[in-house]
Amino acid sequence: MYKIGWIGLGKMGEPMCRQLIGAGYPVVVYNRSKGKEEALKVLGAVVASSPASLMQQADVIFLMVSDDQAVSGIFNGEQGLLQAKTTGKLLINMSTVSPSISKVLAPLCKQQGNNYLDAPVSGSVKQAEERQLVIMAGGDETTFERAKPILEKLGKLVMRVGPTGAGNATKLAMNILLAFYTQGLAEAVIFAKRHDIRTEDFMALVNISAMGSPFIKMKGDAIMENNYRAAFALKHLAKDLRLAKSEGLATPLGEVAFRTFQQAEPAFGEDDIIAVIRQLNPAQ
Ligand code: NAP
Repeated sequence: MYKIGWIGLGKMGEPMCRQLIGAGYPVVVYNRSKGKEEALKVLGAVVASSPASLMQQADVIFLMVSDDQAVSGIFNGEQGLLQAKTTGKLLINMSTVSPSISKVLAPLCKQQGNNYLDAPVSGSVKQAEERQLVIMAGGDETTFERAKPILEKLGKLVMRVGPTGAGNATKLAMNILLAFYTQGLAEAVIFAKRHDIRTEDFMALVNISAMGSPFIKMKGDAIMENNYRAAFALKHLAKDLRLAKSEGLATPLGEVAFRTFQQAEPAFGEDDIIAVIRQLNPAQ
């Protein structure tokens, strides 16, 4: 059985890593700030002192960290993955990052004697906890086939969508749609409220209509409960729209969503994405 290395124990990384421990894999973990490893240590995880040290100890190394900058530091830092003198490893980057960074890192890993797969996820903390993530991968077929049985322990669908970077591009496309849904729901609720329609009534109708979906139900409930605690932090969606823009997003809705989420980030970046409703209507 492969030994797993897991880097990044944030909201998503921690429950995902937990799934692999639960599936019986021996796991070594690393997180930038200390303390987050403790709960996993109790479950048997070993803690590495640096990404390079983790790579020495593991066969398959996962990353689940915030953004391009974090990924770059983990690969290129003094104690980074590219410093490890090891070959035959499989590096799976599940973070939502740019296709460009994957296209830079994959050949560097190859030169080092290792393989890289981009494999970002759709779904949030609940889906991570319930092994219901949707995983879209970019890389060569052999690398994908090696990763697939492990990825299947994390999600309900694991699909290779193309060569290196294709997983990242697909994930950005999904988050463009996510931004439209989020802003669309917020604007519809605000409009209905301005016409004295109770949000409870409006959401009951939307949820049972053809427009209803698990996402709309979840975020509608959050609005009604005044619960903006982050499942998916707004700052991450603002980051994804910046990435999408730098990768060519220039459509009418895309421009609007980009602007809205950048404007919302300073005040609501740490809150959930649906807190965008507070940006659009401060009375909310
Ligand atoms: P999070 O809770 O904010 O955790 C971020 C993780 O990245 C932490 O482990 C953090 O370490 C690490 N990190 C940040 N900057 C770093 C740096 N410069 N060097 C090393 N490590 C660094 O984020 P998350 O919600 O788990 O999201 C992780 C990724 O998944 C993001 O790319 C996000 O867009 C994507 N995603 C999230 C969701 C969701 O619903 N939350 C869904 C799908 C995809 P520290 O503990 O030291 O801060």
